[in-house]
Amino acid sequence: VALDPQLLGELRRAVRGELLRDEPLAPYTTLRIGGPAELLLLPADEAALVAACRLLRAAAVSCRVLGNGSNLLVPDEGVAGAVVRTQPACQWVRFGGEEVEAGAGYPVQRLLNDCARRGLTGLEGLSGVPGTVGGAVVMNAGTAAGETAGALRAVRLLLPDGTVAERAAEALGFGYRRSNLQDGEAIVLAARFRLRPGDAAAIRRDLAERARRRRATQPTELPSAGSIWTNPPGDHAGRLVEAAGCKGLRVGDAQVSPKHANFIVNLGAARAADVIALMAAVRRRVRAAFGVQLEPEVRWLPGQKAFLRLLAAAEAAAG
Ligand SMILES: Cc1cc2nc3c(=O)[nH]c(=O)nc-3n(C[C@H](O)[C@H](O)[C@H](O)COP(=O)(O)OP(=O)(O)OC[C@H]3O[C@@H](n4cnc5c(N)ncnc54)[C@H](O)[C@@H]3O)c2cc1C
Repeated sequence: VALDPQLLGELRRAVRGELLRDEPLAPYTTLRIGGPAELLLLPADEAALVAACRLLRAAAVSCRVLGNGSNLLVPDEGVAGAVVRTQPACQWVRFGGEEVEAGAGYPVQRLLNDCARRGLTGLEGLSGVPGTVGGAVVMNAGTAAGETAGALRAVRLLLPDGTVAERAAEALGFGYRRSNLQDGEAIVLAARFRLRPGDAAAIRRDLAERARRRRATQPTELPSAGSIWTNPPGDHAGRLVEAAGCKGLRVGDAQVSPKHANFIVNLGAARAADVIALMAAVRRRVRAAFGVQLEPEVRWLPGQKAFLRLLAAAEAAAG
């Protein structure tokens, strides 16, 4: 269905940007893993993105969203249907007093630097998170120092019925690395944050110190998707993985980082299947040692339910 020539023509006119066929997705992810998207859309701006997504929906073609691909595992065989990237379409920012509104494709680190320059504080918990504003909202990204939801006021969404609507942060079901936008069909177009006045130099020093700590403790020099598991209540996934003897464990070119056990790094030619087999091995060992079931933080582009099934199957195959 996806490649009906008439639909392709309409999409090409709508995106006013790039429409790529069978485009490998690995370069669009920080893990550098993944096969091609049948269609990859890089719309010119928000209106083009909305128009293109409406066409896809009307034609019943699935449409998945790609931010910076920094929390994403893409199947080796790629994905059928369309993938739409929020960069460059939604890569804008607008300050007004203590509020800032940013497009979903705006890089979080650039937003933090913009805020620091203006002496605005409230988002430093996101220091070092290499994603987009949209990805940060969907994942409620953050650290012990603060999460996205803490400063978020509202988002603008493209809803599954094709309408654009604003939703207050309170309506988004935020929890630790959770929101009700995960695996939903709404697309975040923009987000509005409320910040507080602070001292620009102090904010900048704080960001620099956080970046230094991250480089010292995380394998930032190798491709990864950040933390691969969420922390179980009252514990740290990295501590459990390390205590279960999994640091350095390897399947193909996928390796549990010797520097930080909650990171899986790509040593060069890792495939999604290697990452899944490695995750299955780690999960089994942690469960056997501590009776704790680790849950993936990383998202599978075709959807998390399918991912959990694949992981379970890989665990069963290994045992
Ligand atoms: C080195 C490294 C360190 C990291 N450290 C942290 C950390 O400290 N804390 C933390 O929370 N995370 C961390 N991460 C993970 C990641 O950066 C965050 O989850 C980030 O918020 C993902 O944003 P993204 O734009 O890359 O999203 P993507 O990975 O592109 O997408 C993530 C999910 O959100 C969906 N999505 C993306 N944009 C939209 C949109 N506009 N509308 C609807 N759905 C959308 C995607 O379909 C996918 O399901 C780290 C990652 C790396 C590589």
